[in-house]
Amino acid sequence: MFLKRLKALSRSLAFRLTLWYAGLFSLSSCLAFVFFYFLIINVLRDQTDANLHRQLNAFRGIMQVEGITGVQQVAAMDALAGGDRKRLIRLLSRFGTEFTAAGTEYWQNVGVNAEAIRSLLTGGRPVIETVILRERDDSLRIIYGMIGPGIIMQLGQSLADEIRLVIAFQRLFVATIGTLFLLAAAVGWFLARRALSGVGGIAAAARKISAGDLETRVPVSGRQDEIDQLAETLNHMLDRIRTLIRGISEMSDNIAHDLKSPVTRIRGLAEITLTTDPSGDGYENMAASTIEECDRLLEMIKAMLFISRAEAGVREVRSEKVALKALVGDAVSLFETTAADKQLRLGFEASNDAPVKGDARMLQRMIANLLDNAIRYTSTGGRVDVSVATGIDGGARIEFRDTGVGIAAEDRERIFERFYRCDPSRTESGSGLGLSLARAVARAHGGDISVQSTPGKGSTFSVNLPPRPPGPDPDATAAR
Ligand code: ADP
Repeated sequence: MFLKRLKALSRSLAFRLTLWYAGLFSLSSCLAFVFFYFLIINVLRDQTDANLHRQLNAFRGIMQVEGITGVQQVAAMDALAGGDRKRLIRLLSRFGTEFTAAGTEYWQNVGVNAEAIRSLLTGGRPVIETVILRERDDSLRIIYGMIGPGIIMQLGQSLADEIRLVIAFQRLFVATIGTLFLLAAAVGWFLARRALSGVGGIAAAARKISAGDLETRVPVSGRQDEIDQLAETLNHMLDRIRTLIRGISEMSDNIAHDLKSPVTRIRGLAEITLTTDPSGDGYENMAASTIEECDRLLEMIKAMLFISRAEAGVREVRSEKVALKALVGDAVSLFETTAADKQLRLGFEASNDAPVKGDARMLQRMIANLLDNAIRYTSTGGRVDVSVATGIDGGARIEFRDTGVGIAAEDRERIFERFYRCDPSRTESGSGLGLSLARAVARAHGGDISVQSTPGKGSTFSVNLPPRPPGPDPDATAAR
């Protein structure tokens, strides 16, 4: 159990982030320490060398003033004062033989560097070297220099203090790096957990949603960080999905309801004919009504397919030149008889050709639907006026004004939904698909339809179309 949890922990993002954070922090601290380590060693070495040079110069001065005896006396006193472990002083002849020594007891294994003597005798500058005494675990920095004619001084200084300092630094380094790693891991863990705290919430919400609870939303902490942005985007997406699902379920209810009525009517008529008309005279009537109902059903199915195509195929809309003045004018002419039958005055005006690019067949259906509605929902003696003009963005604006029944405020947005019909219209024939089809066509062309209405007085449906549908212009592409 414990091992399992440990394994899961080691795979977690927080754990890996913590390791990265602690590792990088420790590595950069190590680099800084190594830099300081070499800096300290160099400074100490330079100090020791400068010291040795100074002492050699001092002995040179004593030699000039007091001669070899003076040098021997000062050397003996110096070795005594410093302690024999600190100092090595030898006076050597030009052949390297020792004739005076101080502090040699401890450093007796340190010999004379013949190479250094040779370099001095050929006029070279003082020579400095480091001698390590492994058996004593000690080291000595030595300078060779001429202090008088034919007299060479071998002056050594123990590096014990320097080594002690370096060892102390190394210990401090190990302790500090260890502490820094633990500290960085703790801070890294805290930061990673804090940064990823929202991810746990998102995962929990996603689990609930996939279990079927579509009302759950991802918690937003309010910190406005990337996790909050992700949570807000997810919540927005979930709202959209819920609306879509509701729409789909409402639509399937409507489809079931609206398809049920004609089928029920066909069945009812067939049943009545069978049971009440054994002579078979009513069979002709039944066949005619069945064809009528079937046509209506087919119309509805075709309209639904057309809407789906228009809604899905924003990019599939054909882009041909369409003069809306002519297209709307033709539609108005077609509906003149229907309007006259209802004793309606049907007017049409166009300020210009209103050319747009689009799918003429789709636009024709949109215009016919809006005109048909305006005539159907206007009672005898009313007026229907259609106008075409240039739109705000250089496209076109088509208006359908009627003096009909009007639409209540609460219905105005819903009338564009599939199968939605306002209550007063239920007496009129219709499928509730005309406006959703018209809006799908307008939107597929990059435009839209709006409505203004006063119940009892009339309505105005306005279609705004841009000069061309969205997406690449096939003409422009072909011209290239
Ligand atoms: P249908 O006309 O087949 O019922 P539509 O989708 O064309 O379906 O219209 C939806 C509803 O909007 C109609 O049932 C009607 O109530 C209302 N409507 C549409 N056009 C008008 C109009 N010009 N005047 C009043 N009501 C309208």
